[in-house]
Amino acid sequence: MSAKEQELLMKKELGYDSFDSDLTKNVMDFAELYKDFMVNTFTERTFVAKSVQLLEENGYKKYERGMSLNSGDKIYFPNRGRALIAVEIGTESLGSGVNLVGSHVDSPKLDLKPVPLMEADGCMLIKTHYYGGIKKYNWTAIPLALIGTVALKTGETVDVSIGLDEQDTVFTISDLLPHLASKQMQKKMSEGITGEQLNAVGATIPFDDEDAKEKIKLNFIYLLNEKYNITEADLISADLCLVPAFKLKDVGLDRSLLGGYGQDDRVCAYTSLKALLDSKPSDKTKVVLFSDREEVGSMGNTGMESKFLENTLEELADCFGVKLRDILTNTVCLSSDVCAAYDPNYAEVFEKNNTPFLNGGVAFMKYTGARGKSGSSEASAELVSKIRAMLDDNDVKWQIGELGKVDEGGGGTIAQMVANLGADVIDCGVPLWSMHSPFEISSKYDVYMAYKAYKVFFGA
Ligand code: MN
Ligand code: MN
Repeated sequence: MSAKEQELLMKKELGYDSFDSDLTKNVMDFAELYKDFMVNTFTERTFVAKSVQLLEENGYKKYERGMSLNSGDKIYFPNRGRALIAVEIGTESLGSGVNLVGSHVDSPKLDLKPVPLMEADGCMLIKTHYYGGIKKYNWTAIPLALIGTVALKTGETVDVSIGLDEQDTVFTISDLLPHLASKQMQKKMSEGITGEQLNAVGATIPFDDEDAKEKIKLNFIYLLNEKYNITEADLISADLCLVPAFKLKDVGLDRSLLGGYGQDDRVCAYTSLKALLDSKPSDKTKVVLFSDREEVGSMGNTGMESKFLENTLEELADCFGVKLRDILTNTVCLSSDVCAAYDPNYAEVFEKNNTPFLNGGVAFMKYTGARGKSGSSEASAELVSKIRAMLDDNDVKWQIGELGKVDEGGGGTIAQMVANLGADVIDCGVPLWSMHSPFEISSKYDVYMAYKAYKVFFGA
């Protein structure tokens, strides 16, 4: 850059353009923590349970009404095991608002149908109904794990997990061999594999019982019953799903990237949780929120359209004798969700000047939406100015962009729901390749910068 350019223009460079070996070590070390945490956290329930465990190890207590709360106190509010709010009380009055980082812990998956088992033609199939926006062909011919929770009529629950441990068996949805796929290959990609074809093979050996009608299904349930003491009818009252059966992996010879399932949006959930735990005590009350149901529109009692956040803040308002509306109006929220990174393989859908890049740092979005910013809140100029000053002052590498070209498509996050409560909200998060696929790609550098950004937001 010329001297005049340096004075007047923005410097556009990626994270590794100015190489710093200490920083690179921090980036690589942080990625190991993230990878470890992501083991066996492939449902919203398991992610929340592991987060509660980490919170408790760090002195957080489950909130009970009537607790006396003081600055420095650390509490958490679980919501049906699928959403979570963690709070560290600051020294300032709660009426001056909180610093909130909100993400979601659900990811696209293949939910089991209410009556999922079907024996046909020498095998037993597990029937699914997909959850969230997936490209169905991504989910065939890969190893899948069966995970989730079964609720028995007694009121007990049983956690099921088959396929995530190295020695476990896995499940899979078959694809058609190319030799016989000439008609399939002529179809539109959205129709090549249909929702009703997303049936995974569960078993093929019949149970040794002369009189039985559905011998293979019987064998499947027999084996499931041996392990978990459940029957076919118990699968009716269950939250079970199939998810990719592989752990997060380093990607690239330089190990700069991370590939794996569920990074949307657990990468933002993990980095915000870690930032909460690692940040020093602050004047502002810090809040980390994990919501559920984001991938299907945030509806439901664990989704962001519910009253969970408001009710939780109202509990706190009551404890401190302040008004809920004052907390909400004065709150600043980072809606932390992943975004699409520029991908040279699909350059045509991106506008390069306004698209985050892998290794470009934590990515901010002033707005989301589709067709003229529709269905989106927008961060004000004033909020963006505060955020960029905060990041620049603390050496956080960041970038700003949009989701693809204008009118190319679009999407949303939980930002608008928090903004509708009266808070100042901006979207930010980790840019991904292959979002919503079984193997989403993030950059370790960006993951670390997201963590750093949230930590600085919490007072560093
Ligand atoms: Mn997301
Ligand atoms: Mn998503």
